[in-house]
Amino acid sequence: MKRIYGAFAYSRGPIDACHWARAVPDAILTAPPAEGRIRTRVAVIGGGYTGLNAALHLAEDGEVVTLLDAAFPGFGASGRNGGFCCLGGSRATDRQLARYGDPKDVRRAEKAAIDHVSTLLDRLGIDADRQDHGEAIVAHSPAMAASLPALAEEFAKDYDTTPRVIAGDEMAANGMAGHWHGALSVPLGFSLHPRKYASGLLRAAQGAGVTVHAESPVTRIEQSGGTFTLTTPNATVEADRLILATNGYTSEDIPSWVRARTLPAQSSVIATRPMTDEELQAQGWTTRQMAYEDRRLLHYFHLTPDNCMVFGQRGGLITSAANDARVALHVRRDFDRAFPAWRGIETPSTWSGMVCLTANLTPYCGPIPGMPGAFAAFGYHGNGVAMGSYLGMILADLAADRSPRAPLPAAFSALPKRFPLGPLRRAWLAAEYGWAQLTDRAA
Ligand SMILES: Cc1cc2nc3c(=O)[nH]c(=O)nc-3n(C[C@H](O)[C@H](O)[C@H](O)COP(=O)(O)OP(=O)(O)OC[C@H]3O[C@@H](n4cnc5c(N)ncnc54)[C@H](O)[C@@H]3O)c2cc1C
Repeated sequence: MKRIYGAFAYSRGPIDACHWARAVPDAILTAPPAEGRIRTRVAVIGGGYTGLNAALHLAEDGEVVTLLDAAFPGFGASGRNGGFCCLGGSRATDRQLARYGDPKDVRRAEKAAIDHVSTLLDRLGIDADRQDHGEAIVAHSPAMAASLPALAEEFAKDYDTTPRVIAGDEMAANGMAGHWHGALSVPLGFSLHPRKYASGLLRAAQGAGVTVHAESPVTRIEQSGGTFTLTTPNATVEADRLILATNGYTSEDIPSWVRARTLPAQSSVIATRPMTDEELQAQGWTTRQMAYEDRRLLHYFHLTPDNCMVFGQRGGLITSAANDARVALHVRRDFDRAFPAWRGIETPSTWSGMVCLTANLTPYCGPIPGMPGAFAAFGYHGNGVAMGSYLGMILADLAADRSPRAPLPAAFSALPKRFPLGPLRRAWLAAEYGWAQLTDRAA
């Protein structure tokens, strides 16, 4: 398995102190490794929201499904994200999206993706600590605050919603006292506990008949006469159909078509211990809304039901225990600036993981060229809780030769281009972060 980051990124090191693992430890998400010769109708590689949604919906429709994860279901971004079930997935502007069709198709899919997770949680009876208060975009400068009314109009037009502008002097009354100059409150999306959602999906998929194997990295894929043969350390899995759901943890050579079509980027998160009501009041941030900043190198944060503040931002360019520790200190420094009254509050949880970018700036969901019967979805640009779940469900239909049961925007069917620089393409991130830092400062 060829990967573009060091081994630490793919180990359990980055999740040793993950907040979400306190309620749902790795052991709850695990399953026996694949062994011997296995025959299945559909093989799913990757047990995050994409793979679990694909597997669940296929099994519910009567298909025989085997899901393989290199570590365990929920090991990747799905078990360690910020918990925002929110709009997003694409980073393309309306102008860029217009190349493929009506940009509004993508906006509709973003909303449909949130509704999909919402319906799924209800249907499967998953208690994932859902808090239904939508999201707030907080302005990091007076100039950005001045642009909030225009942003409100854009959201209203794009998502047929009614956002509310909160002026700087109204922030405290809205439970949003921090170092921000205003906010746009959008009544779409909800926060959840990522691992409670993942474990609920896992149980539902197993209950529907999916055979799940952890500790089963697929190291080779061959296709002959319409049959895929997957190799793991202790098993050979034969399947008629294949779904690749590995997103930011994709290997360059599994299969070779994906080489340089994904750009994994790290995101780093910290979480406080549970705070008392008095501690929340001392800072004045008491809203249960998810919040993120209106800049390119943004912070994202929300209070959990038991009053832990989860606070994340982009991670580093290299991966090692020492670097993760350094980045966690940066995140803590930014947290202290944002919430000065919480300077003394401990942050026992720090963790990091991989999001997945594409050169098209859109997710991809469709067939893998040159491999009839194989399908993939990836590239949610750090917003895959809703979109990964939604496209996973659509993958189930594609793999079963059915029309998607939910709209698939044409922009997500365009084949992702390869990033230049091959294995050295992380250099794009350095350039992008540098440029974003300059433009954020100027705004
Ligand atoms: C720190 C962080 C914070 C985030 N915050 C948010 C947020 O708040 N809201 C939001 O919408 N999105 C967020 N995201 C992004 C979101 O979590 C992801 O987009 C989403 O979880 C992707 O799901 P997935 O199933 O496609 O991939 P993943 O959950 O990453 O799963 C991929 C799986 O594939 C497995 N795998 C890889 N290669 C192989 C192989 N060869 N054989 C077998 N298995 C393999 C891995 O072990 C892994 O379990 C965040 C991501 C990170 C890292």
